[in-house]
Amino acid sequence: MALALSWISICGWSAERPNIVFIMSDDHATRAVSAYDDSLMSTPNIDRIADNGIRFDRAYVGNAICGPSRATMLTGMHSHGNGFHSNEWSEPFDGGQQTLPTLLQKGGYQTAVIGKWHLYSDPVGFDHWQVISNAFEQGTYYNPEFRSPNGVEATTGYVADIVTDKAINWLEKISTSEQPFFLLYNHKTPHRDWLPGPQELREWDERAQIPEPNTLLRNLDDLTNARQDARMTIAEWMTDNDVKLSEGRNLTPEQSELWNSAFAEGNDAFEQAEMSAEAEIQWKYQRYIKSYMASVKSMDRQIGRLLDYLSQNDLLDNTIVIYTSDQGFFLGENGWFDKRWMDEVSSRIPLVMQWKGHISPGTSSSALVQNIDFAPTLLAAAGITATQPMHGVSLLPLLNAEPIEWKRDLYYHFYEDPGFHGVARHYGIREERYKLVYYYQLDEWELFDLKTDPDDLNNLYGQPGYEAITRELLRRLEQLRTQYGVPREDPPVPWYHGPLIRLLEHLLKLL
Ligand code: CA
Repeated sequence: MALALSWISICGWSAERPNIVFIMSDDHATRAVSAYDDSLMSTPNIDRIADNGIRFDRAYVGNAICGPSRATMLTGMHSHGNGFHSNEWSEPFDGGQQTLPTLLQKGGYQTAVIGKWHLYSDPVGFDHWQVISNAFEQGTYYNPEFRSPNGVEATTGYVADIVTDKAINWLEKISTSEQPFFLLYNHKTPHRDWLPGPQELREWDERAQIPEPNTLLRNLDDLTNARQDARMTIAEWMTDNDVKLSEGRNLTPEQSELWNSAFAEGNDAFEQAEMSAEAEIQWKYQRYIKSYMASVKSMDRQIGRLLDYLSQNDLLDNTIVIYTSDQGFFLGENGWFDKRWMDEVSSRIPLVMQWKGHISPGTSSSALVQNIDFAPTLLAAAGITATQPMHGVSLLPLLNAEPIEWKRDLYYHFYEDPGFHGVARHYGIREERYKLVYYYQLDEWELFDLKTDPDDLNNLYGQPGYEAITRELLRRLEQLRTQYGVPREDPPVPWYHGPLIRLLEHLLKLL
């Protein structure tokens, strides 16, 4: 009798508990998602999720770099709380701590992670995992390798297609099970070096001209030393590989032929042209942005394939589908590429979410939310309680866009210096209107009024008239650091790390 009752309660429970498909891409700027802004490109499949649910217009990460952002997604904790501060100098992620997948698995969910992982340790809390393993877990766009409990597997094809094949295979495998599932479907796309998929190579249009951001040729001389000293300008730091002047990595002979049919002619024209320094930046920007957009398109199509699978198998009635990115990206603003900064373009993320019956189609929210909130939200939706407190909070109260009290200060902390691109460590606070940033190794401050300056262009720190708001923000920033228990000292970094990174950066330019 007791057995029968518990069986009934488990079945009843699972019927109500939602499946979760969490789609995370890599370096996808909000400006390149048409649900947010359709002036650059179209992402019809990601937009389907927004159309069917909610679009968060002010979603941010707490540390705009790949591995740390993923560690935060898994733990609901800022970097200092989960121990993964940096891609370059962190220990492998400690999967033994409290994580979203472990809690869901213990709570009766079937769990899987497929695609990008980038945390250097084996995934914990997943019944099934197949993660990209070559190129230091960064993976290659073509013919990537995957590791799993069964070892390393070589594949042939384009990464977004293969990740999707594997995700659908797993969903098919568990399709007869009564248990709810959690699928972490992680794309490598559109991370540097932005290789378009085969269809986009076939459709490559060398003559197409994409509008430039107003600040592509910005002079950075009057800005903070932190900004002047960064190594991320398209002019100086973009490699031949980035702009397709050299062949994409890891191609088969057939893929190589397709590659050359897209780029060879344009490359010849570039080599023969006499260009001014300015014209060369503009040429590189075109190659960069078009490659970036093409890789997003290749991924968006595969996301559509997964959504079609869910729809055709009647899974969308009881499945939360989320699309987000591990952080944003500079698409030529300030003349830059890459991420890391607390600037809007890099710390802001696309975040759309559908859940039939729980979120009205076409909803949007301007509440300040952060990636520390993902785990608490999904646990709340699954009816599972975390055993240890998390830094984030559940977003469920926001889902129906009914007016609720949601005033919030966001904490940001970037640690990875020394690191690629030479961005100084900084922490700061982002509130309703203002952002205050402290580059603590340099003792430099920035203050931005996002209402009048949404692109972080005009540093108001120290200017007359801003004394009171600066004092107020300083107080709240310290309050946040106390609330989250941020240590006064950063973890130590080996002395040779800085010189090694500099050497690698120069070598990369030669490849
Ligand atoms: Ca990333």
